[in-house]
Amino acid sequence: MAERLETGSRKLLGRLRDAMAGDVAGQARLDKITSLIADSMGCEVCSVYLFRDEDTLELCATEGLNQDAVHETRMKLGEGLVGRVARRREVVNTPDAPQAKGFRYMPETGEEVFSSFLGVPVQRLGDALGVLVVQSRTAREFSADEVYALEVVAMVVAEMTELGAFVGDNAAMSARHSQPAMFRGTVGQEGAAEGHVWLHEPRVVVTNPIADDPVRELERLQGAVEQLRVGVDKMLEIAGSQDKDQQQVLEAYRMFANSKGWMRRMEEAISNGLSAEAAVEKEQSLAGARMGKVTDSYLRERLSDLDDLSNRLLRILTGQGADTGAEMPANPILIARNIGPAELLEYGRNLKGIVLEEGSVGSHAAIVARALAIPLVVHASRISTEALNGDHIMVDGEQGMVHLRPDDSVVSAFRDKIAMLAAAQERYASIRDLPAETLDGAVLSLQMNAGLMADLPSLPNSGADGVGLFRTELQFLVRNQMPRRSELVALYARVLDAAQGKRVIFRTLDIGSDKVLPYMKPNDEPNPAMGWRAIRVGLDKPGIMRMQLQALIRAANGRPLTVMFPFVAQLDEYRIARRMVDKTLAAEERLGHVLPSSIEIGTMLETPSLAFAPYKFFEEVDFLSIGGNDLKQFFFAADRENERVRRRYDTLNVSFLSFIEGIVERCEMSGTPLSFCGEDAGRPVEALCLAAIGLRSLSMRPASVGPVKSLLRRANLQDLRKVIADARHRGEMSVRPAVMEWLRSQGA
Ligand code: PEP
Ligand code: MG
Repeated sequence: MAERLETGSRKLLGRLRDAMAGDVAGQARLDKITSLIADSMGCEVCSVYLFRDEDTLELCATEGLNQDAVHETRMKLGEGLVGRVARRREVVNTPDAPQAKGFRYMPETGEEVFSSFLGVPVQRLGDALGVLVVQSRTAREFSADEVYALEVVAMVVAEMTELGAFVGDNAAMSARHSQPAMFRGTVGQEGAAEGHVWLHEPRVVVTNPIADDPVRELERLQGAVEQLRVGVDKMLEIAGSQDKDQQQVLEAYRMFANSKGWMRRMEEAISNGLSAEAAVEKEQSLAGARMGKVTDSYLRERLSDLDDLSNRLLRILTGQGADTGAEMPANPILIARNIGPAELLEYGRNLKGIVLEEGSVGSHAAIVARALAIPLVVHASRISTEALNGDHIMVDGEQGMVHLRPDDSVVSAFRDKIAMLAAAQERYASIRDLPAETLDGAVLSLQMNAGLMADLPSLPNSGADGVGLFRTELQFLVRNQMPRRSELVALYARVLDAAQGKRVIFRTLDIGSDKVLPYMKPNDEPNPAMGWRAIRVGLDKPGIMRMQLQALIRAANGRPLTVMFPFVAQLDEYRIARRMVDKTLAAEERLGHVLPSSIEIGTMLETPSLAFAPYKFFEEVDFLSIGGNDLKQFFFAADRENERVRRRYDTLNVSFLSFIEGIVERCEMSGTPLSFCGEDAGRPVEALCLAAIGLRSLSMRPASVGPVKSLLRRANLQDLRKVIADARHRGEMSVRPAVMEWLRSQGA
């Protein structure tokens, strides 16, 4: 029986391929396909439903149902049995459809006379394209072999849909990846950019879903799997026994690569007429659907390993490596599911914009994007499956919107917006050399955050008074190996040269959390953001910190030097670190190096504990800088990288503002210079409120200096303080609505 079905399925695929071959319109092809499938499966009905938009399915062709219903019958995702197949990406097989859970009667189709129903999802590479259904009058459950055969056909229909075999006039049959599409995400970095798509991981294209010669396809599959196994073994060898985590992942890879079940299922798909590539994809889609339902994080990870392995196998089979040989287009806009800070730094300033399907505003990749002043939108769901390399794209980092393949009206409106932003930049340039002084005479020092050599030329143009935060770890992240001391000396000296006497606050290495150095063994920590990071690493492994301090002292070479320690949580951490500086200074002097003309040593305030440190701490430290990104995540117990929780808590929340105010008061009492260098310092409204509660020094990305200065110069802090106080008295949770209302009334 199985043998018979196998040849039957191959025959059907052969007939499908013939149906594809002619120069026929998409609709005619789809009609032909439904009649072929109905005929060869011995069913009265076969229908194809395709997505018309993200959540509407449309009947696009049918054999057996009322023809008038074609392109008329539509259902929402999840609606009826067809909608259920699409939403859950799983097979529905029932002998008695009208009695099945979720059945929805569509009178125009005339389907009430058909009892049994079998629906399978049409999908490829995690992208749901539609649903394929067969129905018959007799009440019977379809056999496992029949279900399998229909899944094989659905795989071919998916590949053909992707290749544009069914393109017609109707919206549901429009060519894929050709229509304008808009994505709404979250603002990661403001600014607007127009350019062309550059996919971080290009999609594999399969042009031959059906194969005549199963023997040859089996050989191809076996050859590719062998290559894959050798590759995984090699990776394991390179990883060695040092790195337990990496080894575990690779062992899981090896297990899958050698899995008999995986291989058998792919071979079976080939015996049923699929090409090796389509067989791999079929398995991958099934695993993908399973992944959507699994909640156990370990299992999810393993399924995603399998997904990764399938992608590798597809690349081997199609010869489409990660490097497809495609040239990066002019004005590239990077599209990725997610990306780490080190990978992003490799692209560097070449990029005009970045759009991530996942990602988060608080991540260090986002900070790198901000440092590079590249517009960034995160959480643009489905964009990596919709965009193709080279597509025209516009990124609106102000609104968190992305326009893919925009039509003319969007293009012209967007270009107007770019021109408006450019005009604003010019306005900011005109106040560059004016002080950041409010209408009631408060003068603020605005500084810039930096971390890349490339940032430094922006210092004179940004209107900043100096560098309030130089993130030294970025230099470590861009390399493949630990930089040598001599390299660091040269680099820090260049930074000081470029600053032309303006103060640069060098923050010692803040590694750990999501800033993982590629050449350092990652630690298996359940919660890295609260783990062994920053000063904790520096104090436990003083070698690197000492080397960095030596490099800074030598780079200063008689000039003033300012050093800041990250993530200090209690007084003794600061004292030990400071002693390290003193000892290093003494040793450098003994070695005959010129010492800095002056040295200031401060810390970041990133943990609530430090705000309540003994008063002595405030007296001993030369200055403090509030790292609002970390401080806020620990204050609200809300992961800065988890968009879902991060967005719940407003910086202008009364509790948080009161907390900052407390820090300002303690610093005023002890006379400790205080600044704020988290991302909020670069947001004009937030910056204004920080100024209102007493901060007089803010450090931000260079592109923010203009907008922040411009708003400060138009505001009266005394009035704003009253607005904030009134909102507090009214018991409001956040002062933002009141502040925004006040700004509007001021015409700001
Ligand atoms: C902060 O936490 O606010 C900060 C400036 O440090 P980073 O973002 O590099 O952790
Ligand atoms: Mg921090």
